[in-house]
Amino acid sequence: MTILITGATGQLGRLVIDSLLARGVAPSTIRAGARDIAKAADLAERGVQVVPLDYNAPETVAAAVDGADAVLLISGNEFGKRAAQHQAVIDAARVAGVAKLVYTSAPKATTSDLVLAPEHKATEEAITASGVPAVILRNNWYTENYLADVARAKETGVIATGAGEGRVASASRADYAEAAAIVLTEDGHIGQVHELAGDVAWNYDELAAAASEVVGRPVQYTSLSREEQAEALAGAGLDEGTIGFVTELDANIRDGALAETDGTLSRLLGRPTTPLVEGLRAAL
Ligand code: NAP
Repeated sequence: MTILITGATGQLGRLVIDSLLARGVAPSTIRAGARDIAKAADLAERGVQVVPLDYNAPETVAAAVDGADAVLLISGNEFGKRAAQHQAVIDAARVAGVAKLVYTSAPKATTSDLVLAPEHKATEEAITASGVPAVILRNNWYTENYLADVARAKETGVIATGAGEGRVASASRADYAEAAAIVLTEDGHIGQVHELAGDVAWNYDELAAAASEVVGRPVQYTSLSREEQAEALAGAGLDEGTIGFVTELDANIRDGALAETDGTLSRLLGRPTTPLVEGLRAAL
């Protein structure tokens, strides 16, 4: 059994490989797909197969997928290009007769208003159309997404966003990685869409309280209107496109796009998800 991980040199990919190894998977049966194999030298040293895999170079994708029984397609990070990039992996998996394709998607990807959802929706639909046996992991937010906010709060005592009273059911990246390792190695799961989220959907007052515990000073949450947030981001030197993206994302959060959690992740892990404070502390 060979398991291919795409984006293996990324933060999630590395944690998935750690989880596979911790579950006793032989390193020689793990194939790490990396667009820059030099970045995977440490993985090769641990006995993991390292292969070139650039989503933009379909021949590398086909060669990497060939002979893999299971493939974890970790969504790319080049917004706007991802549907086509992911399609290259789906096509290769179909041609190679992969028995299990696992994809890291976004919460309620096919129906959500989340600004990030359309590329995930397109990918999920392409997977369905391909007929490749697949499992969808709709990952909610990583707790680690808030490290910059917490670091800033250490200096300013403030977390300011446009997310209002919205809640986020985040979990640590390592929680999602372990779930991926479980789904890759356990029998079953084919055809399932797992909505994965942390056990607790926190609001930004709670994030500020958690940040305060971690940085050791009082931290206040300031709720900004969309206009106030755009002004603050412009003042920090962000370009118009980024400002539009960030304010839209926070509007999505305000509207509840990341607020749902049904315990699927902790059930899969057989333990509670990593609490917010713990996740922030570990990441810092
Ligand atoms: P990351 O550290 O940025 O890793 C992304 C991986 O994708 C990297 O290994 C990168 O390669 C690889 N990649 C990018 N373009 C590629 C290409 N053309 N061909 C092959 N590989 C390519 O992100 P992460 O934290 O591991 O998260 C994994 C994915 O989850 C992200 O890519 C994004 O789609 C999504 N995400 C989710 C959340 C969330 O909160 N749920 C937050 C951020 C991102 P290099 O190592 O060479 O850079």
